[in-house]
Amino acid sequence: MKMYPFTRFAPSPTGYLHRGHALSALWVWAAAEKYGYQVHLRIEDHDQSRARPEYIAAIREDLHWLGFQWVHESIQSERNSLYATALENLKTKGLVYACDCSRKYLFESNSINEAGEVIYLGNCRHKELPFSMESTIRFKTPHTTISWNDLRLGPLSEVPLEQCGDFSLRDSTGQWTYQFAVCVDDIDENIGLVVRGEDLRFSTARQILLMKELGRETPPLYLHHPLILGDSGLKLSKRQRAASLRAERDLEITPEQIFGEICFQTKLTEDSRPISLQNALSLVSKQLDSSF
Ligand SMILES: [Zn+2]
Repeated sequence: MKMYPFTRFAPSPTGYLHRGHALSALWVWAAAEKYGYQVHLRIEDHDQSRARPEYIAAIREDLHWLGFQWVHESIQSERNSLYATALENLKTKGLVYACDCSRKYLFESNSINEAGEVIYLGNCRHKELPFSMESTIRFKTPHTTISWNDLRLGPLSEVPLEQCGDFSLRDSTGQWTYQFAVCVDDIDENIGLVVRGEDLRFSTARQILLMKELGRETPPLYLHHPLILGDSGLKLSKRQRAASLRAERDLEITPEQIFGEICFQTKLTEDSRPISLQNALSLVSKQLDSSF
């Protein structure tokens, strides 16, 4: 039995699932099978300003329609006390501080990284502002290099302080940030393998760093998979007007057609003819054999 026996599929209920999610699920379930993990479904609704309950039911339904099964499920919005406890723990260790910088200041007086995030230089780090529900809470990012071995991309390393500076754990509206909630969840849910799109690769170093401070010495294994690009060359997303899986289902498009096309788009096959979920999983698994 593994110490951390789970991997996770973690969609946000801010819209219906589309082909980008189907591809991500394919990689999660293929890696789970190959490396011996069980899949945990995590509903990432930490941003309550964008999440909608009707999308949660749709996530389960669409995944089942594609043929995926999972063993456990969690919903971030039901886990507030867990995040609050983790934050208290960091406060006690003196690793966080309150920040009252305006959005205008953040974007005008700091550099922006390639992912469009502010590299926060620590303007409030030494101000000792009181913690309130209106303050942003930031992590005192140490100046250190984090290295890891991505199961697909090989050895990678990042310096979080240069990459994002003192990143936020809770914003000024009281919402937990993606970076913080994910770390608390990965620890609490015994996640040993994280499989997600390449666009999230830049979150890895700071998450390893934060998880260590939250008490988990051994980080999960990471695997960042390729993305399907929309017509504009950008990642397929709701904003890029990706059709939802349920809209495709209404048009009588089958899961086999979807798997055939997404495998072709990500160069797992030479043509886009329909294939079964089982065959699509084997193709991803084979691809992993030729990775690091
Ligand atoms: Zn500040």
